[in-house]
Amino acid sequence: MLTDYHVHLRPDEDDTPAERFFTPDNAGRYRTAAEEQGIAELGVAEHVYRFSAALDVWEHPFWHQWARDDIDAYCGFVREETDLRLGIEADFIAGREDQMANLLDAREWDFVVGSVHFLREHSIDTEDYSVWGAGESPDKVWRRYFETVAESAMSGLYDVIAHPDLVKVWGDQAPRPDRDLRFFYEPAVEAFAEAGIAVEVSTAGLRKPVGEIYPALPYLDMVVDAGCPIALSSDAHLPAHLGFGYEQALELLGEVGITELAVFEGRTRRMEPIG
Ligand SMILES: [Zn+2]
Ligand SMILES: [Zn+2]
Repeated sequence: MLTDYHVHLRPDEDDTPAERFFTPDNAGRYRTAAEEQGIAELGVAEHVYRFSAALDVWEHPFWHQWARDDIDAYCGFVREETDLRLGIEADFIAGREDQMANLLDAREWDFVVGSVHFLREHSIDTEDYSVWGAGESPDKVWRRYFETVAESAMSGLYDVIAHPDLVKVWGDQAPRPDRDLRFFYEPAVEAFAEAGIAVEVSTAGLRKPVGEIYPALPYLDMVVDAGCPIALSSDAHLPAHLGFGYEQALELLGEVGITELAVFEGRTRRMEPIG
């Protein structure tokens, strides 16, 4: 069985209001595209920062710019007007764990995807507020990124850790450390194993400057050796992104000996054969 859970019903662009994208017609377009790709398990995971409730968690100017929608209206729409699994992509903001727990625990998700997009005030994957504008060495940025990913896994807030080496997103457009990258992966993998959390294999990196699946093969090897369950998603922001690059992802999963994928319902995980 193929899954696509980390899916957004709209692009990360201005003029993408909930009323235009949180509709049964739009959900139907995603369902149809998933069927064409042989994806049976389909969920949605909107960015938490697009909901006004996120401002109770964190008040970063980037969140202020985006936080508009009613989170309960989103949950109600997905539950009542679609046949999709209900999830959310909730940023890990160090020091704001209790506030995020309050937001998440008040709603009944099928799954919660945890993402590290920010190191303190600095963004990993947007040009605004970029971590690469702060003059830090690549070693320091990578070390802090993977330590933060480890913290996110141990926080107990999440079912899946998304795009677990997002820090590489810019490819050679950003500085990269020279040393063996496994040095950076290690604390994250240890935390995944200890937390018993699922790790996302995401094809979104294929659509980004890095042009590579998250996580990199040596990292995935470590994750698999540590016995962590694998979740598969495209991080689609359009119906056409669903299952994007899955052929390549399945080849990669085959190479490391993965035969089962994590499936979620009511925040309970089970493993299903890829088939
Ligand atoms: Zn993300
Ligand atoms: Zn996403």
